[in-house]
Amino acid sequence: MDFDLSEELEALQTSVRRLAQDKVKPRARAIDKDGTYPLDVFEAFRDAGLLGLCLPTEYGGSGAGILGLAIAIEEVAKYSNSAALMLLLTRLPTGPVMIAGTEAQKARYLPGIADGSLRAAFGLSEPQAGSDVMGMRTKGVPEGGAGSGDSGWILNGTKCWMSGVREADWYTVFAKTSGDPASRSHDSITAFIVEREWDGVDVGRTDHKMGVKGVDTGELVLNDVHVPAENVIGEVGGFRLAMLGLNAMRPIVAARGIGLAEGALMYATEYVQQRAAFGKTIADFQGIQWEIAKMAVDIEAARLLTYRSAWLADQGKFTKEYVPYLSMAKYHATEMAVRASSLAVQLLGAAGYMEDHPTEQWYRDAKQLTIVEGTSQVQLGLIARGVLDRDLWWD
Ligand SMILES: Cc1cc2nc3c(=O)[nH]c(=O)nc-3n(C[C@H](O)[C@H](O)[C@H](O)COP(=O)(O)OP(=O)(O)OC[C@H]3O[C@@H](n4cnc5c(N)ncnc54)[C@H](O)[C@@H]3O)c2cc1C
Repeated sequence: MDFDLSEELEALQTSVRRLAQDKVKPRARAIDKDGTYPLDVFEAFRDAGLLGLCLPTEYGGSGAGILGLAIAIEEVAKYSNSAALMLLLTRLPTGPVMIAGTEAQKARYLPGIADGSLRAAFGLSEPQAGSDVMGMRTKGVPEGGAGSGDSGWILNGTKCWMSGVREADWYTVFAKTSGDPASRSHDSITAFIVEREWDGVDVGRTDHKMGVKGVDTGELVLNDVHVPAENVIGEVGGFRLAMLGLNAMRPIVAARGIGLAEGALMYATEYVQQRAAFGKTIADFQGIQWEIAKMAVDIEAARLLTYRSAWLADQGKFTKEYVPYLSMAKYHATEMAVRASSLAVQLLGAAGYMEDHPTEQWYRDAKQLTIVEGTSQVQLGLIARGVLDRDLWWD
């Protein structure tokens, strides 16, 4: 057992820490206030080679894996979860392509993500189908109305809450292909790559959000979109791919949580060390020290879960038997981020509630993390299933 990061990962951590301090920290408040996509930050990530961290070297990436991406996201999320989301989006839509895509799909769609010339987004959710993915209504019909889809597919439907929908050049989209919109069978759903420029592809309404405002979320409207057969990802009816892709994402979402929590606790600690009250500093009170200590324990526990889950995912261990380990990282790190940001507001008192400090932003941003890519309740269900099925057992 070895808890040390490799030399390469340590160097990555150091360089992203510096970049986050120089380029992300000074921009974080403005990104939140304007709610506009921070192209300058995207370009800084591109110039530093961070957009291809989790992509294989043969497709222009750096092969740093999910652990490498998680480490980079942790550093960036100390200041801005919008910026961290930009990095996350290099993996969420590309994951299914890397897991089950053809060589031709990888060669066409991955190098552009790595060099920043293309962006992508991920379309699973629909208004009536969030946690209950099988409730999706977007449908794919074989070209000509019948047959195997060998000559292509026609997609119709609306995806919602899609992160980065406006900036994306291509989308990984899931649709029902079984012919029966009410089907809850896993082989009724298929993944497709859809390009923004194709006829019938439109961005619908974008959402007014509570936090993470620098990256839009919104609707992708598909209206009789012709998708060539070669843009099916994996098998027709390969719903499992959606789950595999999301399983492998758990450490990356978790990293957004641990980074946010670290940023919030460090900020609040510095504040209480200089804030005078009752002839001392706030940090001199044992009640405050215990809160800091408990949160530090929480952060380190979440970090260990997150790094281990990333290490598992990098070995391809994101199938069912590893789900509890992956889900507990996401669950613990994101719930912990909500607690950490709440503590940070509390430790600053009124100041923490005001826009003069980043604490209120962390508080709003953190809440997103317990909802996206499988809510906390969904993660708990998956962890419990793991124990009940003995995938997680201590005997
Ligand atoms: C900012 C943001 C960005 C997003 N980006 C994307 C994206 O890029 N692509 C994408 O496809 N989606 C995206 N989503 C959607 C996200 O994945 C869904 O919101 C999430 O899956 C939950 O679905 P829902 O919102 O419909 O909640 P619901 O499924 O309606 O759940 C509502 C509540 O009920 C609970 N619940 C549901 N089922 C159960 C159950 N079986 N047991 C116990 N409790 C349950 C949930 O935990 C939750 O608390 C984004 C969401 C947000 C907020």
